[in-house]
Amino acid sequence: MKRREFVGGLAAAVGVTACAQEPADCGDSAAASAETFEWSCVTSWPPKFPGLGIGPENLAQRVEAATAGRLRIKVYGGGELVPPFEVFDAVSRGTVEMGHSAAYYHKGKLDAAQFFTAIPFGMTSSELEGWLYYGGGLELYRELYEPFDLVPFPTGNTGVQMGGWFNKEINSIDDLKGLKMRIPGLGGEVLRRAGGTPVTLPGAEIFTALQTGAIDATEWVGPYNDASFGLHKAAKYYYYPGWQEPGPGLETIVNRAAWDSLPPDLQAVVSLACQAVTSDMAAEYSNGNAESLAQLARDDSIEIREFPDDVLALLRTIAHEVVTELMADDARSAKIGEAYFAYLEKASANSKITELAYLKTRDT
Ligand code: CA
Repeated sequence: MKRREFVGGLAAAVGVTACAQEPADCGDSAAASAETFEWSCVTSWPPKFPGLGIGPENLAQRVEAATAGRLRIKVYGGGELVPPFEVFDAVSRGTVEMGHSAAYYHKGKLDAAQFFTAIPFGMTSSELEGWLYYGGGLELYRELYEPFDLVPFPTGNTGVQMGGWFNKEINSIDDLKGLKMRIPGLGGEVLRRAGGTPVTLPGAEIFTALQTGAIDATEWVGPYNDASFGLHKAAKYYYYPGWQEPGPGLETIVNRAAWDSLPPDLQAVVSLACQAVTSDMAAEYSNGNAESLAQLARDDSIEIREFPDDVLALLRTIAHEVVTELMADDARSAKIGEAYFAYLEKASANSKITELAYLKTRDT
């Protein structure tokens, strides 16, 4: 039963049901239920940042309410307790019990983790969730993090991002050459091979870097988050689509010992709250992006443009090479990547005749 509880929200709920039916197996759960827990959750985001930072706050509030305060979680913005990109290590070591971050920030230490956030030209958010919750993805995710004493839970997704803000027009491949752009993960490697210089910066440092000219371009998320950083005041051209992050999933990570210390009902609440936050964040981004895009569209100082077809075609070819090499060089990436692309092939065939076909019909 223990193993099944780790598999996900639904499985965790099943575990609790089984326990209720078999009280003899439940040990001292009655005694455990009186115990209270105070956890810290470190994040990679500016405190209470729209979407990304609201997600862990929502998680903490829901868990506290659903457990009548038996599990209280204090959320810290990136840099408040640990730097934004050290969430993985801090939770792995047990410095704190919980973190909220994006798996591709662990690139270098754990390259295969990138499949659980976003792959350039890869899965959309609904395809990724299909894979994680029902297609075997979450089991691979848990297996990958096990040696680091971490239990991961998908928790939120930004949806399809924007291609980013540029201080010059991108009319051809040549315009990418020499371009210094904030773009993390595999997308950054794709840009490098296209002749650009990728830079990884935490969100909070992007505006100043773009405004001062330290970088020529940046991707961040989409209208909702980009407008809240004021990126439209630092660059003129706003390109789409976000080929580099077509539906990046975010994660809650829990230290293994902390997880094991929770009674099964609190584990179930955490697991279910993570799924609830995923659903809530999708709604928040759907609404926030629509509102912010409407405002940006009225701003005469910026232009919203689609990347030229030949630029996207080249980036797609390079992205394929980059991911193929990653899988050739790293056994864990090969195993997870094979599962990812097998699922993408099936999901994509379905998306083509549903979302894509429908939106083409409605919006042209
Ligand atoms: Ca991004």
